Parts: sequence; C-alpha cells; structure tokens
Amino acid sequence: MQKKRLILGGTFDPIHYGHLRALEEVREALGMAEATLVPAGHPPHRQSPWAPAEHRLAMTRIAAQQAPGLGVLAYEVEKSSRSYTVDTLRHLRADDSDGFLAMVIGMDAFLRFDTWKDWQEILDLAHLVVIGRPGWPMAELPEALRQVLYERRVEDLAALHGHSRGKIAFHTVTALEISATQIRSLLAAGRSARFLLPDAVLDYIARQRLYHET
Ligand code: ATP
Repeated sequence: MQKKRLILGGTFDPIHYGHLRALEEVREALGMAEATLVPAGHPPHRQSPWAPAEHRLAMTRIAAQQAPGLGVLAYEVEKSSRSYTVDTLRHLRADDSDGFLAMVIGMDAFLRFDTWKDWQEILDLAHLVVIGRPGWPMAELPEALRQVLYERRVEDLAALHGHSRGKIAFHTVTALEISATQIRSLLAAGRSARFLLPDAVLDYIARQRLYHET
C-alpha cells in the first residue's frame, strides 16, 4: 500500500517543543495528517546520549500522545546493532517502495549531512526537508552539499508532492531556540525547564531521576 510518511529523527535526549513544533509546522505545510518521531538507538554522530534509549523512547511516546496523528517508530531503539538513518529508511522502503517519504532535519544537522553513512543513498530514499534553526548560516555548507542542492532543491514544500523521494526543500519554522543540551544543563543545575518541553515529559524525567547530578 502506498502511504505518505513524514519523519523526524533525533536523539530526543530529551524531546522538547523545538522538535515538536518544527514537525507540526512541516506536517501542516505539507497538508499531511500524520507525522512520525524516530528516536535514535545508539546515535553514530555523538559520543553518547545521556539517557538510555528506553527512556528516550518512553519520553518520545509521552510527547507524541499530545497530538493526534503523531506517532513514534521504535525501530532504531529496538535494533540490536548501531542505528543509522539509511537503515531506517531502507526499512521503511521495504514496506512501501513507492510512497511519499520525507525526512525533516535541522539546518545544523544538514551542514554535516555529507558525513552521514551512505548519505547519497539517503537522498535517493526520501525527500529532505531542511528547517531553519537560529544561528546556523547556509554559508558554511560544504561543496558536496552545495552541488546536491543545485541538483535536487525544489522551490518549496508543495513542490515535493510531485515526487515520492529525492528532492530537498527548505522551510522556515518558528524559531524556538530550545536544545536538549540546554534542558539537561538546567536540570543538572536543579533549575526549572518548564515550558521548554511537555509537562508530562518533565514529570517522567523527575520520576526516573534523569539528567540530575547524583
Ligand atoms: P542536543 O542539544 O542534545 O544536541 P537537540 O536539541 O539538537 O539535541 P536532537 O535530538 O539532536 O536535539 O535533534 C533532532 C533533530 O531536531 C535535528 O535535526 C535538529 O536539528 C532538530 N532540532 C533540534 N532542536 C530544534 C529546534 N529548537 N528547532 C528546530 N529543530 C530542532
């Protein structure tokens, strides 16, 4: 069956309103009813997440309950081997080889995109929706990515619908300068992180004593 899928992958350590609002705005701009959060298992691009994968998955599920049509794909967390985006996209394509598949990534992640495993294959498996984030200028884009943009960039999100994969669109979302790093630092210092992420996620963090200095 052909589906339309929109995904946002991340460490979600923890998930916050920057992630949720960006995905919501892209989902709505694409006119889609559903979107999927994909928490990373063992992310190849960073030293180590602070919270174990099962807690990050649980927090992502709690956050997803806030909105109808928001789902969570546990594939990367449940996989025993290292999780790479390309494997997740291959997995999704095994189910649905021709459907519309778009992946949201922040500009900060896009600037390093040519270091991702099999990044060129990723571009053949899905569309990329690159969202603006404060403080990450396009000027720093490596040459390989400039070339890719020249070949694949389309005018706007609407233009993606003419294809099932392979195009890149930029989209500006409401700038919420929230990062998981900031939230972890606040919590470690015993300070409030309220209104940066859903209360239900904060409650989970408190119950599980995540991110607190011991
Ligand atoms: P950390 O501070 O631990 O590096 P993070 O807050 O950047 O984490 P990630 O889980 O690494 O969160 O991000 C997942 C994806 O969401 C990335 O593509 C990232 O660019 C994007 N993203 C993160 N925070 C925001 C935000 N405030 N606004 C828009 N996009 C965001």
